[in-house]
Amino acid sequence: MSKVTVCARFRPLSSKENKDDGVCVRGIDAETFVFQDDEFTFTLDRVFYQDSAQSAIFDFLALPIVTDAVNAINGTIITYGQTGAGKTYSMEGPGIQDCDEHKKGLLPRVVEGMFDQISSSIDIARYTVKLSMVEIYMEKVRDLLDLSKGNIQIKENKTQGILLTGVTEVPVSDSTEALQHLCTGLANRAVGETQMNMSSSRSHCAYLFTIQQDSVNEKRVKAGKLILVDLAGSEKADKTGAEGRVLEEAKTINKSLSALGNVINALTSGSSSKANHIPYRDSKLTRILQDALGGNSRMALLCCCSPSNSNASETLSTLRFGMRAKHIKASPRASEVKSAKTQEEPSSVTEDEKCGRILE
Ligand code: ADP
Ligand code: MG
Repeated sequence: MSKVTVCARFRPLSSKENKDDGVCVRGIDAETFVFQDDEFTFTLDRVFYQDSAQSAIFDFLALPIVTDAVNAINGTIITYGQTGAGKTYSMEGPGIQDCDEHKKGLLPRVVEGMFDQISSSIDIARYTVKLSMVEIYMEKVRDLLDLSKGNIQIKENKTQGILLTGVTEVPVSDSTEALQHLCTGLANRAVGETQMNMSSSRSHCAYLFTIQQDSVNEKRVKAGKLILVDLAGSEKADKTGAEGRVLEEAKTINKSLSALGNVINALTSGSSSKANHIPYRDSKLTRILQDALGGNSRMALLCCCSPSNSNASETLSTLRFGMRAKHIKASPRASEVKSAKTQEEPSSVTEDEKCGRILE
């Protein structure tokens, strides 16, 4: 049984945040901090403060998940928090290519870590890595590696779990190639932002890696899915004074983040009987994260926070979300795709499941 790794990261005060407002956090030790003049105490798996290195976050939160994913155990890494709290900085860094080594974010480190581990295992298995990248905006799933594709449908397959129908999956053989495709995806995301006149903080972005492993000795093919998600901002619409379409966007984001919260609540409510309905279908986000939330994935959540008292209520809601997620229990297992000997899928899979059942 594995638990979700939940960490908080407080970024430095921004130039817009008034120093006179004061800071809302005081660290006690590596896991515990007090919040808002000692009103609340939080204990998470690890707390990172303004001087924390990007590498420290990768080592603690992501590296164990990458290692497992190379061994065919699914993994999910999510950044959560209000707009401007440091989600994208943590995920990408100032840029995913050609940025200062120490500023590099989780995504390039994950890619490099994954290929490092693959290259040290090539004598026991042959690996195939495929990459997809999608954005969820206004409950539509856009393929960021091919903008000509329409709304991508989500389906479920008994052996492979949640799948995105027809999504572009590019094979990548090393980290340079992977990072190039990710840059293309990010450039496409920026094009969409301009075309739709929206900000990237109003959409969720998911980076999906499938790592297939053809074992030399065991004659088996296994595959792990590794998903990184940079979520849209979690702030409430009323504070931002949004109106018109921006308000509609904010409502859609709030709905999908509430759906995520509701799924987590249902999973952690204690009554984990089969009758307990888990509302994965309430949003595209929860559908895409169904495997991760439902237990067949290791999961890490980075709660990104402003340290300023002026953002304390958003930070409190981010931390409460994280505390709730800490109680999700998972039993991820290595996924066998097919027997290399026969090249057939396991016999328990029906034709329907092989094609993947379209659920919406
Ligand atoms: P979000 O994605 O949550 O909306 P960003 O990651 O874009 O927020 O961060 C907002 C701003 O704060 C950016 O200018 C970013 O460079 C800066 N920032 C965020 N976290 C850090 C950090 N840990 N160290 C330095 N600058 C940061
Ligand atoms: Mg962002």
